[in-house]
Amino acid sequence: MKTVNDFNFENKKALIRVDFNVPLNKELEVTDTTRIKAAKATIIKVLEDGGSCVLMSHLGRPNGKEDKFSLQHIVDDIESVVGVEVKFVSDCIGEKAMEAVSKMRPGELIVLENLRFYKEEKAGDKNFAEQLSKLGDIYVNDAFGTAHRAHASTSVIAQFFPENKCFGLLLASEIENIGKVLTHSEKPVTAIIGGAKVSSKITIIENILDKIDHLIIGGGMAFTFIKAQGGSIGNSLVEDDKQELALSILKQAKEKNVAVHLPVDAIVADDFSEEANTDIIAIDTIPDGWMGLDVGPKTNMLFSEVILQSKTILWNGPVGVFEMEKFSKGTISLGNAIAEATKNGTFSLVGGGDSVAAVKQFNLSDKVSYVSTGGGAMLEMLEGKTLPGIEAMLK
Ligand code: AMP
Repeated sequence: MKTVNDFNFENKKALIRVDFNVPLNKELEVTDTTRIKAAKATIIKVLEDGGSCVLMSHLGRPNGKEDKFSLQHIVDDIESVVGVEVKFVSDCIGEKAMEAVSKMRPGELIVLENLRFYKEEKAGDKNFAEQLSKLGDIYVNDAFGTAHRAHASTSVIAQFFPENKCFGLLLASEIENIGKVLTHSEKPVTAIIGGAKVSSKITIIENILDKIDHLIIGGGMAFTFIKAQGGSIGNSLVEDDKQELALSILKQAKEKNVAVHLPVDAIVADDFSEEANTDIIAIDTIPDGWMGLDVGPKTNMLFSEVILQSKTILWNGPVGVFEMEKFSKGTISLGNAIAEATKNGTFSLVGGGDSVAAVKQFNLSDKVSYVSTGGGAMLEMLEGKTLPGIEAMLK
């Protein structure tokens, strides 16, 4: 696996696919620069070598050319994060782009207009990819967030750089850290899978069962397991058609010597709201009219104990409705236990939209080993899929 560190970019133009799909507010201002910051190391490496950077990205889901999705809106943020003047080009292919690139000097940085203004980007059009490929000497893929897409700029383009292509530092570290959980993990390995639905996590669970010693299940999805085992779950979230599947996971886990830890108690509420009346009761005795919205104190102790014994931890999905303060204690307790284990030398990887949001909200980002930047891409890697953006680079 080649990275930018295997190349000298002196007098070379690096064509870098970044993931600058950042959130914008109504005034079209960037509200979170995490993704820009994540690409900085790769950009700096190229510039310090004496090379120049041509950055290309998508932003949002435009339908053709729509000004509100222009990358122009994020140019100031790129300048302040990277600390280098940025030249914006109002197209990503064609004469304008070719001319701007041909005039570039070492140390300069160009940002191209939104790739998705052309439908050919998502269609993975080969001709479009070839036009893009003319804008650089070395192709660098640093867009982990879109590595699971077979788009023109993320995978099709790689064939036009038979030798001169490599991973950016962000993408390389994502692969390395996810690899620490999936292939080079120190035992005992614990996966914590939470969130709303069993159906969206089932492929991950099945893929990781061979690699883990403990499986902690929390969040809304736990209730499908509890009901399948004969428990009363009141009005808690449930996928009735997934009960068989839940039982089959428990059976597979047993055959593979994986200890499954389900919640034993729950914070129940009489309404899905911060104003609801609440109680703490055994997870399998929830009466009608009440729903479990967080795990209870006994469960927190049980989960913490397992976490503190683990040497490798994967966390995907909250164990309660953490967005509401009343139902956030379980997720906070879990996050704190992971932070403590990490302090004691455990490797911890957090990934997937909502657990990343939880880690940020509870200020735990610096207390876990690695927070993955790519929601869908990370989930697909955990599901055991080969990502097109990674595969194309290895050919
Ligand atoms: P996911 O995207 O599948 O990881 O699900 C995350 C969502 O699951 C969050 O928005 C949580 O509020 C929600 N969630 C977690 N626990 C529960 C629960 N017990 N009941 C309903 N929703 C939950």
